[in-house]
Amino acid sequence: MNVLHETRIDCPYCGEENTFLVDRTIKEQQYFEDCEVCCRPIDIRVRVSANGDCQVEVHSEDD
Ligand SMILES: [Zn+2]
Repeated sequence: MNVLHETRIDCPYCGEENTFLVDRTIKEQQYFEDCEVCCRPIDIRVRVSANGDCQVEVHSEDD
């Protein structure tokens, strides 16, 4: 399986779709990625299960 997994998320600010890559070797991660459309920092939380499925949650900065 590919280590990098392409994931789509909706920006919590403007609702536009963003695509980013998840590194599946890291089981739990949290980071900020700027929205491609409104450039606000999206709080992204990712959990990777044993079979490589990614669960992605997005929050706005003030959540
Ligand atoms: Zn946005």
